Amino acid sequence: MTDLLEVDGLGLTATEPSGVDIELVRDFSLRVGAGERVALVGESGSGKSVTARALLRLDDGLRVDGSIRLSGRELTALSEAEMAPVRGSEIAMVFQDPLSALNPIMTIRDQVAEPLVARGAPRKQARRRAVELLGELGLADAERRARAYPHEFSGGMRQRVALAMALIGEPKLLVADEPTTALDVRVQQQVLGLLARVARERDLAVLLITHDVGVVAEFADRVVVMYSGRPVETAEVRALFTAPAHPYTRGLLAAVPTMSSTRRLVALPGTPPDPARRPPGCAFHPRCAVAVNACGADRPELADLGATHAAACHVTRGVSV
Ligand code: SF4
Repeated sequence: MTDLLEVDGLGLTATEPSGVDIELVRDFSLRVGAGERVALVGESGSGKSVTARALLRLDDGLRVDGSIRLSGRELTALSEAEMAPVRGSEIAMVFQDPLSALNPIMTIRDQVAEPLVARGAPRKQARRRAVELLGELGLADAERRARAYPHEFSGGMRQRVALAMALIGEPKLLVADEPTTALDVRVQQQVLGLLARVARERDLAVLLITHDVGVVAEFADRVVVMYSGRPVETAEVRALFTAPAHPYTRGLLAAVPTMSSTRRLVALPGTPPDPARRPPGCAFHPRCAVAVNACGADRPELADLGATHAAACHVTRGVSV
């Protein structure tokens, strides 16, 4: 599989008014192949959303170090004027709260058509394509309902509209940031199913950002687990669920209910550290039940555990899983 997205050594740093630098993301590397579905998982505060935004160069005033290449093109070297047309046509994003992405006084049809109009398409033609796409994404009676306004739609339908807005420019990579968090479980399943279908049909690569490791099993080919601004484990989805190597990943999985098991759910103790006050060594060590002496002093690097499995942990390093 050719790599569509190649991120190497990404660092995102915020500077406080006092002049102090805070590293939000450090040493982040990632590959996403054409048509591949990758999930980036972690608790809130792990740095996954700010990483996702940085991939579209929505830099939020942060200093960006490292490299982000999309189809071989270095995005960090582009000016905002050069980057603007890349968004939508090559890489697009769906956000957690579709209402924040939708204009309340614009019809659904016009909002979905807008990216095409902005790129010079005649409005009539863009509207026609918008209605067609909404129909493909499951909006029944799309011709009529596309004339409605966002407040007339349910949360699940709004998320379909947001997806249509992201897809109308036919990007190769979709970054979906917690797209189902605000939805109830039944609608969540529908939206994830839709996302999977769309990805398959269009050979679209998807980077799904989620705090919910439970949604990953059905959706992703590969998973990257992030903790305190760094990837701590990366694996094919099956390997991650059957042989999780990092104690943090095991903690996330232990808190997920499954249909087939009656085991007791165990919540991870504590919370992720404030990036301004990260503990030395492994940032997870204050919460880790299997920490050893080295953990509080030396930061573990990602080490290969197999062809496509790696973890950053002193205890599991070198252990074959
Ligand atoms: Fe736990 Fe140590 Fe591994 Fe960190 S390096 S996850 S503290 S065992």
